[in-house]
Amino acid sequence: MNQEAGTASGERTISNTCGYCSTGCNLMVTLAGGKVKSRKPNPGYPVNLGKVCPKGFTMLDHLGAADRAVAPLMKDEAGELVPVGWDRALEEFTRNFKKIQKSYGNQSVAFLSTGQITTEEFALLGALAKFGMGIVHGDGNTRQCMATAVVAYKQAFGFDAPPFTYRDFEESDVLVFVGANIVIAHPIMWNRVRRNPKKPEIVVLDPRKTEISKFATQHYPIRPKSDLALLYGIARIFVEQGWVDRNYIRDNTSGFEEFSSHLQKYPLQRVVSATGIDAEGIMKLARTIHEGERVSFWWTMGVNQSHQGVRTAEAVINLALLTGNIGRAGTGPNSITGQCNAMGSRLFSNTTSLFAG
Ligand code: SF4
Repeated sequence: MNQEAGTASGERTISNTCGYCSTGCNLMVTLAGGKVKSRKPNPGYPVNLGKVCPKGFTMLDHLGAADRAVAPLMKDEAGELVPVGWDRALEEFTRNFKKIQKSYGNQSVAFLSTGQITTEEFALLGALAKFGMGIVHGDGNTRQCMATAVVAYKQAFGFDAPPFTYRDFEESDVLVFVGANIVIAHPIMWNRVRRNPKKPEIVVLDPRKTEISKFATQHYPIRPKSDLALLYGIARIFVEQGWVDRNYIRDNTSGFEEFSSHLQKYPLQRVVSATGIDAEGIMKLARTIHEGERVSFWWTMGVNQSHQGVRTAEAVINLALLTGNIGRAGTGPNSITGQCNAMGSRLFSNTTSLFAG
């Protein structure tokens, strides 16, 4: 909650970010008597631009759920969970953790975090765990879903940072979605695609007929686990046809010759056999990317949680690097996360390689 405005009637309106998916839409929520009276999309918020999906309208409903935890619970002598005050809970927590650490060492306790808290809370959690409690193991569930993208970005760029803004959805003339169904998973990102005035090519690589495949101008229903072969095959076509940005590669990359040698293992016929897409279709896909002036590549869990996920994410990144589709509006190899502050978790504290900032 980052804004608050009161009214004469005692009502107050707050701005609140939806936590259901990673898009980060913002709503204005009016509270009266401690209850939600109304809610509407925040028209001035740069993420959702006055729109919200149906999930966002229900984002606070769980506050009134009958089984919601509203107080710390501890087991009594009979083993029943009973509510206790915060002072008691914190005292017990601290005493028991210290006891465990004293008996078994600091490595005997750990924390597991989430992508649902604010960046400031990540910083506090990391500092408290490391410097306050001497904890040596901490992790975020964001790493568990995004580890492959994190490693791919680090190996490609030296740093974990998806290089896009939501404006890029509106400025591409070719958008390639790999294992990503944002129509359902990130509806307001899809809304940003629909605002694109260029009538872009929407290319979907996905074994399944998903909601986004119905809107695609090109859907390639590849065989499961064949995305890596397809991406290498496309890269090979780029090199063979001279459809690479030599200046960009020379000025900004290393290892082009080695990568080109590796691609020799992926001739067209091998890619046809692996993917089930015919040669004409694969050439059409390669040509579409080649002819695009601003091509963006988007992936989510279909890549991240897949067979050879790091390699597949790297192969997507390499297509952007080969064609110079990076560092300009409407371009980029862009991984989309699952939780609203997954990047806060990844960047600030709660991945195993970035403890406490
Ligand atoms: S797109 Fe995601 S963040 Fe936006 S309202 Fe829907 S569920 Fe919430």
